[in-house]
Amino acid sequence: MITRVIRVENTDSTKELLQEAGDIIKKGGLVAFPTETVYGLGGDALNSQSSRKIYEAKGRPSDNPLIVHIADLEHLAPIVKEIPENALKLAKAFWPGPLTMILPKSDLVPFETTGGLDTVAIRMPSHPVAKAFIEAAGGYVAAPSANLSGKPSPTTAKYVIQDMDGRIDMIIDGDGVDIGLESTIVDLTSKEPMILRPGYITEEMLTRVLGSVAVDQTILSDNSKVAPKAPGMKYRHYAPKGELTIVEGDADKVVAYINAETEKHRKKGEKTGVIGTSEVAALYKADSVKIAGSRENEELFARQLYTFLREFDDEDIAFMYAESYNTEGIGQAIMNRLLKAAGHKVVTV
Ligand code: AMP
Ligand code: MG
Repeated sequence: MITRVIRVENTDSTKELLQEAGDIIKKGGLVAFPTETVYGLGGDALNSQSSRKIYEAKGRPSDNPLIVHIADLEHLAPIVKEIPENALKLAKAFWPGPLTMILPKSDLVPFETTGGLDTVAIRMPSHPVAKAFIEAAGGYVAAPSANLSGKPSPTTAKYVIQDMDGRIDMIIDGDGVDIGLESTIVDLTSKEPMILRPGYITEEMLTRVLGSVAVDQTILSDNSKVAPKAPGMKYRHYAPKGELTIVEGDADKVVAYINAETEKHRKKGEKTGVIGTSEVAALYKADSVKIAGSRENEELFARQLYTFLREFDDEDIAFMYAESYNTEGIGQAIMNRLLKAAGHKVVTV
């Protein structure tokens, strides 16, 4: 299959191109597109064949459900059994935006899209290109992240092309994304709303709107006996090729530990990489040092994390080290993704 790459900077001058992209979806094809979180790999959410194709293109297990993307609140009612009060509150506060809600699905949504579940994940992205594309596609675009299963989610079209060239019909190149981590997922089908995946919309923000919110305990823990409630969270995705270790402790000890490890690996001819904050980055001696910006600016770190992991892959870095973050606010999402990428390997110094 030849994958066409189109460049879309704004939606006005490219209306026709986006309509072509929408038509591909309507005919059962696949199109990758930018959103404010990461790039999505889209197909018609109401067409079971399209969902099958998405799993195939990603090499993703088909019990890992897809998120249905909509562009208009009017499109919510037809795909769910009911709209609870909490869903309306969250939609009002955070849609369009990086929040996914789990609700009981209606018969309109095929089980292929929900990985066999009676519930459906729904999000309304704020990215103008995503919005125009979803509208052109008929209103319902099922989309997981546009990476091959097992790789970090793509935050630029370059990485979508790397993973999906020859596997899908079209890639919409809309430059780098804004947030860089996947959406926050909130389950509204349980008694108390529960965060299944942390993201840019934080626990604190959700609590302000809902009064209280539970957090799936598997988000930051390494208890393999408890299955995460979002089926996808059990897979070790976000993973780079090399081995990542998170190092926590006082900054000077963290730097000393990582430099000692660097030395050890260098003697064996193994390349090392570090993801560090600008406060201490100059002190690292690793082969590849990625500066995540100031420790104060966690949003900047979030935006770059997956790019760093992919760059380490490209540079054949065998051993990677990352500084630890506190788990308040968006730090919860950052640590969740770091821990997953590291397979929960944490060293305290
Ligand atoms: P991705 O689109 O690659 O970010 O992956 C979608 C995520 O949403 C996966 O972790 C899924 O397990 C989760 N998800 C989608 N639908 C549901 C659902 N009905 N119930 C729980 N989690 C879901
Ligand atoms: Mg994904």
